[in-house]
Amino acid sequence: MHDDPASLDFSGDDMYAMGENVLRRVVDHLTSLDQQPAAGDVDAAELCRALREGPPEQGTSLDDLLDPFFNEWVGRSWTASGPGYLAYIPGGGLYPSALADLIADTTNRFTGVWQAAPALVQLESNVIDWFADWMGFPATTRGLLTSGGSLANFGGIVTARERLLGTELRDGVLYTSSQAHHCVLKAARLAGILPDRVRRIPVDEQFRMGLDALSDAIRADQDQGLRPFAVVSSAGTTNTGAVDPLEAIGELCAAHGMWHHVDGAYGAFFHMVPELRPLLAGLSTADSLALDPHKALFLPYGTGALLVRDGEALREAHAGSGSYMPPEALEGFFDPSQYGPELSRPYRGFRAWLPIKLYGTARLRAAVKEKRDLAVEAADAIAALPGVRMVAAPQLSLFAFHLEWRGATQDEQNAATEELMRRVVARQRVMITGCSVDDGRFLARVCVLSFRTRRDRVEACVEDVRDAAQAILAERSVRT
Ligand SMILES: *Cc1c(COP(=O)(O)O)cnc(C)c1O
Repeated sequence: MHDDPASLDFSGDDMYAMGENVLRRVVDHLTSLDQQPAAGDVDAAELCRALREGPPEQGTSLDDLLDPFFNEWVGRSWTASGPGYLAYIPGGGLYPSALADLIADTTNRFTGVWQAAPALVQLESNVIDWFADWMGFPATTRGLLTSGGSLANFGGIVTARERLLGTELRDGVLYTSSQAHHCVLKAARLAGILPDRVRRIPVDEQFRMGLDALSDAIRADQDQGLRPFAVVSSAGTTNTGAVDPLEAIGELCAAHGMWHHVDGAYGAFFHMVPELRPLLAGLSTADSLALDPHKALFLPYGTGALLVRDGEALREAHAGSGSYMPPEALEGFFDPSQYGPELSRPYRGFRAWLPIKLYGTARLRAAVKEKRDLAVEAADAIAALPGVRMVAAPQLSLFAFHLEWRGATQDEQNAATEELMRRVVARQRVMITGCSVDDGRFLARVCVLSFRTRRDRVEACVEDVRDAAQAILAERSVRT
């Protein structure tokens, strides 16, 4: 570092050395991911207590800071970027996105307004247009890159509210399924749609929103003098991967003058694959759609996206100005801050643009398709195991199952299923998680979506589930 005590700059040589130092560590980390424990050791309360400290008065060398980071701290976490991560909804984190972030953060141009960096904003605008194209959305579509699916859902609900309720929020009612992601309820609350105006519609045996129940609920609210204004459906729930009947929900919304927002944070990118589009029929008719590039487009955490079919509605819900601001974008160009809540923002577009251009859509599409194929194969193998009941077969790339045997109570079966999950995770080849569904059953769930998860790891998962199921049933003297 510079001798001048007030300078924060480094010499070119220093920057090279620091960059090489970081790069060596990062690449060593990535190339050893397949040997790292799949779940990691997160029993770290003691460590976290020891890490607490006040602001450092003097600086520390980069090595002294990064040694413990890579050697002691990273491993105390779920290995969410590794091939064995079949938990929750994986993604992996593409390396080119990390390079893009380095470039975006070092060039550090202001991409909140078009005027400040028109060409860079254009790249982000292209990414949004590509998403619209993959989702079958029309040319009127505008969108926004957000920090994740939660804020994309929030933006969709705010836009629906502005368009359909105006200033009279209190009578507006929003509908979603009992299996919807909890961020939908949070987004509604933040948007001023309080919990007593949110209806959680029961699901069918495949965990999809019940159409009759939805239509009855809308009618009941209309009879009360309330104003049903939006349905938030799921294109892949987090629990079981269920895709709601999007087409029929869209038709119902159209018939009632309501807004149809689809939460596609998990499932929307499967629409990139033409053969899989029938699984998401109706998705492209939604008024708005939340996507999560940090899931099925494999980007690192911190990138979600919102598409709104009538782009003008998105702009009207978010436009703002101030006398200190530069002029608005030229006619026909995209001004990010006019389409979302942020002014200053990270240059999110580049971490999506660079990998999409580098790989090309065909390769990304093949990766998405492979995850679906692997999930179907694994689900078939696991469904054939004695004692396993496949409760939710893969609609996309996620399935959920339960251990069942004759004479057992639901509590015994739930406990056995939970035990199975624990034993599989303890082998550290894969990490899986569980969920509870409306009838009280606890399900073990497997989601294949990390780009690093290939056939060998999915086969390891099947083996570990088979061994655990066999042992657990034998211990309970279940004859299989
Ligand atoms: C992950 C997820 C969300 C939340 O998205 P974040 O990116 O975590 O904010 C919402 N809905 C579904 C279906 C999801 O899978």
